[in-house]
Amino acid sequence: MSKIYSGIRGTSSLDPAETYSFNQIIKKSRNVFDVFGYEEISLPLLEEEGLFRRSVGDTTDIVEKQMFKIEGKDIVLRPEGTAQVIRYYLENSLYKKSDFYKFSYVGPMFRGERPQKGRLRQFHHIGAEAIGSNSFYLDAEIISLSMRILDIIGVREKSLNINTLGCSLDKVNFSKDLKKKLIGNKSKFCQDCQRRIQKNPLRVIDCKNKTCKSEVATLNIGESHLCSDCRQHFNDLRVLLDELGIDYTYSPHLVRGLDYYTNTVFEITSSQLGSQDAIGAGGRYNELIQCLGGPSISAIGFALGVERLMLILDKSSPRKGISVYVATVDDNLKTQALKLTQQLRGEGIRVDTGYLKKSLKGQLRYAQKKGAKFVVIMGEEEIAQNSVMLKDMDTATQEKVKIDAVVNKIKSEI
Ligand SMILES: [Zn+2]
Ligand SMILES: [Zn+2]
Repeated sequence: MSKIYSGIRGTSSLDPAETYSFNQIIKKSRNVFDVFGYEEISLPLLEEEGLFRRSVGDTTDIVEKQMFKIEGKDIVLRPEGTAQVIRYYLENSLYKKSDFYKFSYVGPMFRGERPQKGRLRQFHHIGAEAIGSNSFYLDAEIISLSMRILDIIGVREKSLNINTLGCSLDKVNFSKDLKKKLIGNKSKFCQDCQRRIQKNPLRVIDCKNKTCKSEVATLNIGESHLCSDCRQHFNDLRVLLDELGIDYTYSPHLVRGLDYYTNTVFEITSSQLGSQDAIGAGGRYNELIQCLGGPSISAIGFALGVERLMLILDKSSPRKGISVYVATVDDNLKTQALKLTQQLRGEGIRVDTGYLKKSLKGQLRYAQKKGAKFVVIMGEEEIAQNSVMLKDMDTATQEKVKIDAVVNKIKSEI
């Protein structure tokens, strides 16, 4: 006996109904991007490992534990979209052509660590990046864009948490301050965090470990590390969000697990998911373009996790079945049947014919199961008279119709 292969753990194979609901999410998101003036780009699944080490950060979970590396090469399956969009932007010197860009993207992302519940090896992101401005108005647009997509695809219960990390100088002060607060209790944290306290204290705040989480919750994190510009930016944004009627919670503990974020960060959770996991997140990354060798240009973006959205959305089903079935009494009429099938398909009618050896009764049963409204029956006798029988499955009546009139007759009745 040959082996029956299984799908790779942490990957999902979607059936037609799931694929339909997946595609609906993507389709609706694309419409919203279009309305907001974001242009979609398509980027490869493979990137140089260094791109993410430099941008997402060496001590982040994504880079430390989760990268899906191609063995023996400095190539990884992309873990996220932002660094890649910026790679594309810089490689093509887009900043020389225009001072402002709005991009969107959709596609699979990968994670190399052992898969756990809710954490897939291959998952999908819907994301957007707006490059070229540090305006808090743009922060508000990005936030309202992500909320709008969630509205349109039908996520009813959602909450938006926002915070600011400040500029890179503020982040340095914040780190120093945190290190002082954490170092005394170092032994209470997990092994990874004990290392992070030294190297990158900010990453302690988003450690997933339970003990670390409860320790972090007791920390008093205020806004004292912010310079006046960054404080102003955040205040302006909050006033604007109020003005726009976008509800949010200010969460000083929200830092996001990527090094490139500066200033505004946000996260959207849904109680419908039944856990604290975010369904989407984003933020500003005003230093990233420079850090990847480009000029100093500000940008902001976000990404939504498609698999998590699928968990909370009502399952809608695709339109099933066919309108017309072309049956043959005798196998030697198959060519004629296929010709008529093609003709009907050419008119955009959902039609099928049989490929198995089945009796007429068997074919009618199949047609009924598939929801066909009409069955065209081809028999020797009728064909000899250039005709077919057209059976109406609802009324169970049938009539003889000239073969060159049957397409129009069906068209007029469905
Ligand atoms: Zn600042
Ligand atoms: Zn930890």
